Amino acid sequence: MRKALVLLCGSVLMLAQFCIAGKHSIMAGRTKRDARTLRVTTILQEPYTMEKNSALEGYCIDLMKELSKKLDLKYTVHLVKDGFYGRQDAQGNWNGMIGEVVRSEADLAMASLTITAMREKAVELTKPFMQTGIGIILRKDIVSSELHFFEFLNPFSKETWIGILIAYLMTSVCLFIVARLSPCEWSEPQTEGNRFTLLHSFWYAAGALTLQGAGPQPKALSVRVISVIWWLFTVVLLASYIASFSSMRNSDSAKLSIETFEDLAKQDIIEYGTIRDSSTFSFFKNSNHPTYRMIYEHMQRRHSLVSSVEEGIRKAQGGSFAFIGESMSLDLAVARYCSLTRVPEVIGMRGYAVATALGSPLVKNLSVAILQLTESGELEYLREKWWATTCVSKEGGSSGPLNPHCLGGIFFILAGGLALGVLLALVELAVKSKTSAEEQKKSCCSVFSEELSCRFRNSSSKKDRDVPEKSKA
Ligand code: GLU
Repeated sequence: MRKALVLLCGSVLMLAQFCIAGKHSIMAGRTKRDARTLRVTTILQEPYTMEKNSALEGYCIDLMKELSKKLDLKYTVHLVKDGFYGRQDAQGNWNGMIGEVVRSEADLAMASLTITAMREKAVELTKPFMQTGIGIILRKDIVSSELHFFEFLNPFSKETWIGILIAYLMTSVCLFIVARLSPCEWSEPQTEGNRFTLLHSFWYAAGALTLQGAGPQPKALSVRVISVIWWLFTVVLLASYIASFSSMRNSDSAKLSIETFEDLAKQDIIEYGTIRDSSTFSFFKNSNHPTYRMIYEHMQRRHSLVSSVEEGIRKAQGGSFAFIGESMSLDLAVARYCSLTRVPEVIGMRGYAVATALGSPLVKNLSVAILQLTESGELEYLREKWWATTCVSKEGGSSGPLNPHCLGGIFFILAGGLALGVLLALVELAVKSKTSAEEQKKSCCSVFSEELSCRFRNSSSKKDRDVPEKSKA
């Protein structure tokens, strides 16, 4: 009976609006639809509708533009007065955007408005323009991360591991070069082999990295400088690795394990809540599932509801609060704020739709246009445009992987040590060349370059390859 009455009122109102529009169109010499400006209600929620320099932008604003282009519509957008999506009270009255459409204060509701059975009875809903589910977000450091196979790599970030590998390669090559250059390390390049072949240098550096002290031991100051710096580097590195590894393990054991809604319902260490008067709240309220009922009763008892997605995200960032919301919005929050994580379980799949008054002739055209935009990939493009964000870390990184800048000092010292080693080796060679030049009555430069070429010319000669045997003997 009520529905019939609402339908009748809706049709009369639409008719009246079309008559007025028709009158205007005759006067202006335009078509009926051009003359009618639709009032679109929306709600502030990132990235659907956002305020920028007193104008509105976002996914929903772009979508409205596309729909208006397709259907040749004129429209004005306003924000919903009470700041709600729409829920029916005990007297049957609707609040939020649904309320505005029902009371004809708006012709369209364009927002992340979830399709529900109750709303479908009160307004016309188009085909969904986006699919989502219900999920949970909370601070990463509250929940324990699952252990994976390469857990031992976690104490250092990827960049740090790459830095260590480069440092190892560079030090080994430097050892090899310096041991060749230095006359104190290799006094007779013409007659004897060099103990520090490239392979030996790699072996020596790897031995130090694991605190094993692999030979051969260097004699020259230049090679010793590099060795000492490398030892210092490895000691700091191992100490940082062990400290970071144990702090990661210790902090993990004190954390909660929340992978599902059941895990959340069964604990009472952290508070949780959803948006007041939202479809997510109604989902828990109307559910007969024991876990979801527990969650609803807990939220009612503890008054832990929030008034917007932004407030929920802010509370979750503060810690000790899990925000239950729609996965699409939660994924954006996780992409924006590195301190947050979304638990794997997603329930209650649903879609977002545009709402119009009951009996509105617009709904069919809007549905067709939405489907056309989906099929042409336009909606996917909009999604990528508004969800393409990077997370800005505000964490102190207390027990996260160590980044290269945390160990920057020791990398810097190593680089300085390597440079000093090479310099010393060149000085040693220069001193030797000077003495030889005086003895041979030749120019110092020519003796220096002869020495250099002699030391690198026969790097792959048989003499070098025989060295391991010689040094063993
Ligand atoms: N999209 C929801 C609604 O239409 C609001 C957000 C939520 O439920 O988390 O009510």
